[in-house]
Amino acid sequence: MTRATAPARGSHVLYSGGVTPVEALERVVHCLDRSLESGFRVKAFIGALDAVRTMPEAELQARIKGHTLQNVSGIGASTAKVIEEAAAGGVPAYLQKLEVETAIPLSDAARPYREALRGDCHLHSRWSDGGATIEAMARTAMELGHEYMVLTDHSARLTIAHGLDRERLLRQRDEVAEVNARLGPFRILHGMEVDILLDGELDLEDDMLGELDIVVASVHSKLKMPHPEMTRRMVRAVRSPHVDILGHCTGRLIDKRAPSSFDAAQVFAECAAHGTAVEINARPERLDPPPELVRMALDAGCWFSIDSDAHATGQLEWQPYGCERAAECGVPIDRIVNTFDVDALLTWAA
Ligand SMILES: [Zn+2]
Ligand SMILES: [Zn+2]
Repeated sequence: MTRATAPARGSHVLYSGGVTPVEALERVVHCLDRSLESGFRVKAFIGALDAVRTMPEAELQARIKGHTLQNVSGIGASTAKVIEEAAAGGVPAYLQKLEVETAIPLSDAARPYREALRGDCHLHSRWSDGGATIEAMARTAMELGHEYMVLTDHSARLTIAHGLDRERLLRQRDEVAEVNARLGPFRILHGMEVDILLDGELDLEDDMLGELDIVVASVHSKLKMPHPEMTRRMVRAVRSPHVDILGHCTGRLIDKRAPSSFDAAQVFAECAAHGTAVEINARPERLDPPPELVRMALDAGCWFSIDSDAHATGQLEWQPYGCERAAECGVPIDRIVNTFDVDALLTWAA
């Protein structure tokens, strides 16, 4: 990266040394991701990135000079402009505009929470349904000021998300070790977002659960299950000694899917009794749990984890939305497990 200035936590990157065309395109995708843009604009820039990455350098330079980039499949007028402006040594105007327009706001009340966070305990890579490699996610987490991240791809039952079975999870562990060796002292912890099956069983064998650093357990199926069954299902999962964090507990999608119905007081009491943290999921379309449930979990004595649940590098910037929720509900910062350093987190989870 030729970006000379590291970003302040939660603020946008300041460029002082210009950017290469690839860096500019990557950063555009990052900014579009954090703005929850999922349509043709992201696809256009990803297409241009692929084209530039595979083009020989001499051809790229010739096309920039001759203004013939648009003759290349995958490159259009707006992506060509970004490439040319970056190649000329400046920060492309479109990127500058995006940096400002897509910056994640952070209130004074939420700022101390964001500043206290040292890691992110729930995020995905290309191994399941994420869009970025483990290394790309880790590098972005480092740029955001984190000391660690917990990689939590989906478990096998979530076939739609290309969930990992035992064998792939083991192969993933090798990649985590390899990336850790390169990026240290930053730490990638190996975790999983394990499906809570209909009866509250977990979608991974006990021995493998025991080897993971952090386990997030989430309900992804039969979200409309009757109240008593859903309560039993969740209680059983959070009682598991392997489960560290209960992910997006109501399963709601704002304006799209109603929250699941369960006895929250009972589930949170079990979370408190068994040391399972309640996740404050920061995805803008989830923001789960809603404030009344966060307050209930707080009264029950629960731990919390403020997680991005990122599926792309730009989405790692979403934790401030969870910080706003924590601030609004008066969650004490020392109840939030990802304000711990990595050793304290692992000790807490053990
Ligand atoms: Zn999930
Ligand atoms: Zn997730």
